[in-house]
Amino acid sequence: MFHERYAATVHSDVMELLDKGIVPEHARAVKAEARSFAEEYIEPNAADYFESGEYPWKILEAGMDAGLVAQDIGEEYGGKGYDLAQILAIAEEFYRADAGIALTLQLASFGCEMVETYGTAEQKEEYLRPVAENEEISGLAVSEPETGSDLAGMTTAAAPVDGGYELSGEKYWVGNAVEADWLTVYAKTGDRDDRYSNYTLFIVETDRDGYEAEHIPEKMGMRASKQGHIVFDDCFVPEENVVGAEGGGFYALADFFNHGRVVVGGHGLGLAAAAIEEAEAFVHGRDAFGRTVNEFQAVQHSLADMRLDFESARALNWRACEKVANGENPGYWAALAKTRSTEVAVDCAERGMQLHGGRSILADRRIARVYRDCRIPVIYEGANEVQRNLIYRQSR
Ligand SMILES: Cc1cc2nc3c(=O)[nH]c(=O)nc-3n(C[C@H](O)[C@H](O)[C@H](O)COP(=O)(O)OP(=O)(O)OC[C@H]3O[C@@H](n4cnc5c(N)ncnc54)[C@H](O)[C@@H]3O)c2cc1C
Repeated sequence: MFHERYAATVHSDVMELLDKGIVPEHARAVKAEARSFAEEYIEPNAADYFESGEYPWKILEAGMDAGLVAQDIGEEYGGKGYDLAQILAIAEEFYRADAGIALTLQLASFGCEMVETYGTAEQKEEYLRPVAENEEISGLAVSEPETGSDLAGMTTAAAPVDGGYELSGEKYWVGNAVEADWLTVYAKTGDRDDRYSNYTLFIVETDRDGYEAEHIPEKMGMRASKQGHIVFDDCFVPEENVVGAEGGGFYALADFFNHGRVVVGGHGLGLAAAAIEEAEAFVHGRDAFGRTVNEFQAVQHSLADMRLDFESARALNWRACEKVANGENPGYWAALAKTRSTEVAVDCAERGMQLHGGRSILADRRIARVYRDCRIPVIYEGANEVQRNLIYRQSR
């Protein structure tokens, strides 16, 4: 018999996985806020949103009211200027509670970082402030239907015309492509032999003529987040919407991904923590052969391996956070953290499923949700094979 009551209470008995000890002092307060928000708003609604696949507007608004959405934007533009450690601390907590809702909350300011780093004073005032003040949401459009990994192979083009550029082409997988007010769009502006100098970033409002977006088909994981397929049909963008230097898009993006990948490592850590919690709860409440399943040494070893993997990934991820924040070989550290933490999530989910026996495949189980969600961070923000290419190249 499965002791549901024990399983429901075991969380409080097991050692805290997302322990604050490794989190820098200045990020602990926001971590605690993110934990209590996640417990109140994300966890209790996770299963329903996963099932319906609806966009979690209400939770997004609650996150905005709680001051936990888009607050990486600097104080001078209305945000709180949360740094990488603070955003990572929030990510761990939110993704532990539910990855789909967490992605929606964290994508609300996606792409803003590049406008803040490379944009003009006017762009920051006009576009960043409404996002920081939670009146608008943004997004980042890089991937295309035919090309996702090869950043220097994208074909969406921005042709110079009187007063600006005309965008034509398609983008795919873009978070909030339908819901966002504006996007940072990565488009081809040159044809130089140096293929990395052919791309430029543009701010594109989603109500411009020539911008059409629709949701991509239903996903098996992270169902409470929405991605879209965009078609640019001679979409005019004025010159003042160019972000940074023409031809500098690839390099700006590479720099941005160094920060993003540390945070995506946090997605993996939150998911891994959820898998471990679920596995531990289940085996302590399930009987087989006259004892609870956790009494079998093989099961204890499986749980021990999950802890080993989780703790080493978390130590690496927080070390990478410090390295990237200090600009010390950031591409290398970001790729290490992203790869390790997201793969540990997959491994922990796989083990957690096995320990759940037949119940692992019941669609409403948290472990089944985690199992499906954890397939995504090993792909987005650069597939892990690409991360391994970066690790090899930058370790020499
Ligand atoms: C839920 C979700 C949200 C996303 N959000 C966004 C977003 O907001 N904005 C955005 O622009 N994009 C977004 N993406 C897209 C994501 O970044 C891409 O899916 C990712 O970069 C991989 O591109 P691809 O899917 O085209 O795979 P491909 O590039 O077609 O690669 C397929 C596979 O081939 C292998 N491979 C490719 N290149 C190499 C290589 N060099 N070496 C070894 N193996 C290789 C890998 O196994 C890889 O997984 C999102 C994706 C998902 C699933």
